[in-house]
Parts: sequence; C-alpha cells; structure tokens
Amino acid sequence: MNVRDSEIVAQLLTQQGYRPAPEISEANLIVLNTCAIRAKAEQKMFSFLGSLRTHKEKHPDVKICVLGCVAQQLGDTITKRMAHVDLVVGTQQLYQLPSLLEDPRNRVAVELLEDFAIPEIVSPETEPDHPSTQPPSASRFVTIMQGCNNFCAYCVVPYTRGREQSRAKEDIIDEIEQHVARGVKEITLLGQNVNSYGSTNPVTADGSPYSFAHLVRDVAKIPGLRRIRFTTSHPKDLSPELIQCFAELPTLCPHLHLPVQSGSNRILTLMNRRYRREAYLALVETLKIARPDIAITTDIIVGFPGETETDFADTMALLESARFHGSFSFKYSDRAGTSAQSMPDKVEETIKAERLRTFQHRQEKISLEHNQKYIDHIVEVMVESSRQDSLMGRTGTNHIVHIAPTDTQFSPGELVNLRITHAGPHALRGAVAPAHS
Ligand code: SF4
Repeated sequence: MNVRDSEIVAQLLTQQGYRPAPEISEANLIVLNTCAIRAKAEQKMFSFLGSLRTHKEKHPDVKICVLGCVAQQLGDTITKRMAHVDLVVGTQQLYQLPSLLEDPRNRVAVELLEDFAIPEIVSPETEPDHPSTQPPSASRFVTIMQGCNNFCAYCVVPYTRGREQSRAKEDIIDEIEQHVARGVKEITLLGQNVNSYGSTNPVTADGSPYSFAHLVRDVAKIPGLRRIRFTTSHPKDLSPELIQCFAELPTLCPHLHLPVQSGSNRILTLMNRRYRREAYLALVETLKIARPDIAITTDIIVGFPGETETDFADTMALLESARFHGSFSFKYSDRAGTSAQSMPDKVEETIKAERLRTFQHRQEKISLEHNQKYIDHIVEVMVESSRQDSLMGRTGTNHIVHIAPTDTQFSPGELVNLRITHAGPHALRGAVAPAHS
C-alpha cells in the first residue's frame, strides 16, 4: 500500500513540474513515506529524519515532508521533535500534498475523515517520466479499497487509515484497462482486506451486490492482462467463491498470502482475529484442492502478550500442517492506541527473539523443501529485470527466479519458460528452456 501511495505522490508532484532527483543531496523536496505497523519502522523514521538535520541547516531551502501512517499517528509530535521537518501529511490528505506544499504556513495536515472516499486515482496518462534508466514497469499496483474495520488487537491500521472504503468497480476496471493499454501485463489488487471489498459501501452504479470474487472475474476478462494478484486477505472473509476463482481463472496467479498470525486459538481470540486454527487449516486444504500448484504464504507474530510455550508450540504445529511456502514473521511490539498495548503478561524480549529464531529456522527448511521440488521442472516466469547482469523474473507462485546468462534479449513483462537448476530457501535459479519443452 505504501509503495502505491508513493507512486501516487510521484504522479501528483510530476503534474506540478517536479522531477525525481538522482540523489537525495540534490533534491529540493524530500518526501518520506512512513509505516507504523511495527515500532522498528517508526524508530527508523526518526533516525532518518535526524540524519537530515545537518543537511537542512546547510540547505535551508530544502523542504522535508513526512507522509503515511506515522505522520497520521503522531502529527505535530514529529514537528515538535524534529523542527527541521516542514510538513506532516496524514494518510487521507496525501492527495492534497501539492497544494499543501504551496503555503509554508502549512505544518501539519492530519485528519481522518468520516466520509473519506479514495479520490479518482491519477490516470496512468499522467504518470511521471521515469529516469531513462528505469524502463516502464510491466507490473502495477491498483488500490481497490482503503482502511479497515477489523481492529485486530495489535494493529494500528484502523487508526491510521480509517474505516474501510471500497472504490467503485467501474473506476478500478477503467484504471486497469488504461494500464493494460500502456503495456502492463500484471496487476496486483491492493487493500488492507481485499476479501471484504464491496461489503461496506456500494461499488456498482446501481448499488447491486458485488463482491471481491466478482471483481476478480471481471478483471480476468480484460484482454491483454496476463497475471492477476491481490493482497492482503483476512482468512475470516475468504469466500468459497474466491477460492473457486483460483480453480477457474488461469490468469489468477497460484499464490495466496493468507496471514494467520498465530497457531493458538487462545492467542487468536486475544488478537481478535475471529477465526480458529482449524478453520484456517481447512481453508488451506480447500485452496490446495482448488489449485494444486498454489503457494501459500503467511504472516506470524511471535510473543503476543500472554503467549505461553504451549501457544507457541501450537504455532509451530500449524506451520507443520500448513507447510507455508514462505512467511513474514515478527516479534510482537506495542503500538500506541491498540488494545494489545494495555494487555498484561508481556513476553520478554529474549523469549520473543528465541521463538522468532525457532520459527524462522523451521520455515526456512520448509521453504527450501518446497523450492527443491521445482528443480528440473519448467516454470513460466514474468521477466522483471532484463539487465544482463541481473536478469530475473517471478513465477506465478511468486518465487523470484534468477535467470542464467543467455544471448536472448528479454523485455520486462515478457513470459519466459525456464528450467529450474538450483533452489535456495528464498529464490530459484533457472535457464531458458527450449521452446518444445
Ligand atoms: S485485518 Fe489487517 S489491517 Fe485490519 S486490523 Fe487486522 S491486521 Fe490490521
């Protein structure tokens, strides 16, 4: 979501005549887009802003602007702590950035709006001219909704992005058609919980019911679009209709990121996740039946308040049952304003670190076992980097594949068949396969 927001900011600023600076030292506007999901990201923001203090003293005309979820959450605390920051802009004021920059009296623009609707996303026709070293991307993010109503106990998103709002279906289809007309081959549909798309506000002109599965089916009908991905999915809202899309739509990539967070029912309840481990594992099985080649990845939080050794053992057991292709795993950290912040029985840092190591060690082995199964198999890869010194692409299952040097010239977005020769836990290596393979 932050990557997409940064693209939108680049588009808006380009329309105002700004151009990307080759180096931060040459910029006269520095925009920092921030993430508040973990305490570490927030600490990194302050440390980066601190490092800009001397730069600003030497170049007082340079403007420094902070956007995103930390901006939304901390507001004028940022300008009080970092007086050299010129402007702090909240998640829903992002679209006003160019006008806010015009008046130096603007310091903090942070407000969650009750009736916030995602403005018409800047049309692809007005996308920035990338520096010539960057070819236009064959893969794009498209925001389909913003905000979240779920209030998981550890999460700041409902407080920093506001309540769930879905974009009109026609706007989304129109934006994707424009991208495809410009050569985009792969679209990732984005939202905090795409599975509940269309459930909180009408998304069709006549107000008729329209779900995420309907949207995926309509996107799959767009001629020229080769791959569809989406993120992120809440397990409690993953519908049978959406699972059926995996069975029926070849352009829907066989990869699903389905955050489970914990394998313990007790911790899932404390987290307010509203599903049980048994229901989660049943979804995994149904998905594998619908699309046998599907790769399922997840998010895990270790050391949530009150997590005992037994709870953690449940998470490890769930890993053995689900056998995720990969996972993003983190130590729990308190986030201001969330319900978990005031929960008792915080887990010691050393125990959290130990559990994280245990989980990641086992996950790495499972990932490697999965990846080794691709060796000697032919996989279809979409080329992402066509530079000869860093040729790489991505499979439908979202595996990165480094491509062995070849005389063949590729362009980004091209679909290439590769024979996999090596597998590591995080990436594969392959060579161009003969056409008849
Ligand atoms: S569903 Fe995701 S974004 Fe929403 S509160 Fe839970 S973790 Fe945060």
